[in-house]
Amino acid sequence: MFQIRRIHDDVLPVNQAALNACGAILLKQIPTATVKEMDRIREALRNPVAGRFKAVVLVAEQGRQVRGFAVLLHEPDLAFTYLDFICAAPEKTSGGLGGALYQRCREEAQALKSQALFFEVLPDHPAWCPDGDTLQQNRARLRFYERWGARPVIHTRWDDGIAEEAPKQGAQDLASKYSTARPMTYLCCDLLGRAQAPERAVARQMLRAVLTRRYEREVSIDARGVISASLRDDYLQLRPYRYTTAKPVRPIADLPGPMPMVVAQGHEKHWVHDRGYYEAPVRIASILEEVMPSGLVHVVPARPWPDLHLRRVHDRDYVQFLADLATSLGQRSIYADVFPPRKRRDPPKDPLVSLGWFCSDSFTPLSAAAIHAARHAVDCALTAADQLVHGHHAAYALVRPPGHHAESRLFGGYCYYNNSAIAAAYLRTKVGRVAILDIDYHHGNGQQEIFYSTTDVLTVSIHGDPIDNYPYYAGFAEETGSGPGKGFNLNIPLPSGSTAEQWRKDGLLPALARVREFAPSVLVLAAGLDTAKADPTGTFSQIAADFHKAGAEIGALALPTLIVQEGGYRTRTLGKNALALLRGFAEGSALVMP
Ligand SMILES: [Zn+2]
Repeated sequence: MFQIRRIHDDVLPVNQAALNACGAILLKQIPTATVKEMDRIREALRNPVAGRFKAVVLVAEQGRQVRGFAVLLHEPDLAFTYLDFICAAPEKTSGGLGGALYQRCREEAQALKSQALFFEVLPDHPAWCPDGDTLQQNRARLRFYERWGARPVIHTRWDDGIAEEAPKQGAQDLASKYSTARPMTYLCCDLLGRAQAPERAVARQMLRAVLTRRYEREVSIDARGVISASLRDDYLQLRPYRYTTAKPVRPIADLPGPMPMVVAQGHEKHWVHDRGYYEAPVRIASILEEVMPSGLVHVVPARPWPDLHLRRVHDRDYVQFLADLATSLGQRSIYADVFPPRKRRDPPKDPLVSLGWFCSDSFTPLSAAAIHAARHAVDCALTAADQLVHGHHAAYALVRPPGHHAESRLFGGYCYYNNSAIAAAYLRTKVGRVAILDIDYHHGNGQQEIFYSTTDVLTVSIHGDPIDNYPYYAGFAEETGSGPGKGFNLNIPLPSGSTAEQWRKDGLLPALARVREFAPSVLVLAAGLDTAKADPTGTFSQIAADFHKAGAEIGALALPTLIVQEGGYRTRTLGKNALALLRGFAEGSALVMP
């Protein structure tokens, strides 16, 4: 086994030795390299912002033997990283070292908040590779990078002279004018899991910065201008996949824990002491106890978000009603006892009567503490969703109260604001189509109702059959959506007492198939864990191993995923089950090695 570590200096003897070993590998592996390259790297470590780039050196070591290394140059103002070198020792070019090293480069670039990772690769065009072996090697290298979605930048004169068809008329001249002094390469770009490439103006600056930093002597200032100005697309364009058909499946991990987690704060004040009210503060504590030491997560603080995000999925008067009660209720906790017929156009005037107007059951109370906790849960879910927008492959919102029973104008089932739906609505504005997969024991009636006539948010729910399970009035298989949204809601009710294997075979697998078919940009996993064995609100019998397996299968969708905590009330096993689900997900999506 090898370990990859970051070298921060060339002062410690252990680091000096490692850098010497890197130099030796470099000279062996790259015919054109000279000892000057290594001096340049050392200088970059000593003076990390010289040339406006910050250098990062990663070494892969087996014991103290250096097996490979990579050098990254990070440009903080333009927010990109240039992969200067990635090299494995000659005797160690397989065994996953190259992949591990490259993945770590991506993680570092991501941790440095890069929008893109650039590097150069020799061309895979026969006209420029007269030697068959070299062509094969170059193809293999480009295939390797395609696995991460990294491909050559196209529509630029960077590689003038190695244009697609064959050297074009005059291309040679251009090449000699602008670029012969540097090696003939493709400039490749890895978007680090982002949906959107840098826009033209930024991309041009990036190109110019790379040329200036790397080819200061070889490429004239004029030529740098010509090459960077040659980018004419609105956004940087990458060559279509040539060797792989799949979309990039290698997600970005973050350092140190691969998954940002946003945890509800101050929720303890929302504590309903009624007998049988299982939605209690201990739920969060029991999950934290298991998840925190796992190394799978790192905590990101929630930030406040404006009410407009609530109003994307909840009616304005509902949002106002809860906000008013949050200030007027004081210490009181109230329950609806009158449920007015909803055929009326306007809610009743008396706030205590209108409670029933906005409520779906008689056991979920309203209190200032509940509303505040619910509002904060929304902030957590949105903050976690934003992690995906910024390129993380996954994020976890560990929140209570849950949200998936909250409809556009109804609270109930322990839920007030629909955290998953609000996050999905936000993600839809940022990244496009969203699928919500609800694996809570109870039907996700909230997001079903909210997105029922919507085509770009797919709602899927696997749950105990509502014929004898909460919420009783929704969750039947024939509810498939309305109007244009017909076919974009999938309910998979399972008989009470279903086994874990039935849940997987009849529930999860068809649900995942539907998500795949829908091909969303992101997945929101409404992660209720009340399908667990002995959960007081459910009848299923899943144990940690089942959650692990489910997590892995969901992770294998290879979709950026927001995990939002919903139900789960068997607190003795809740933490272990949550951890199993997260670990399975991280393994299934290759965020961590099994
Ligand atoms: Zn539930």
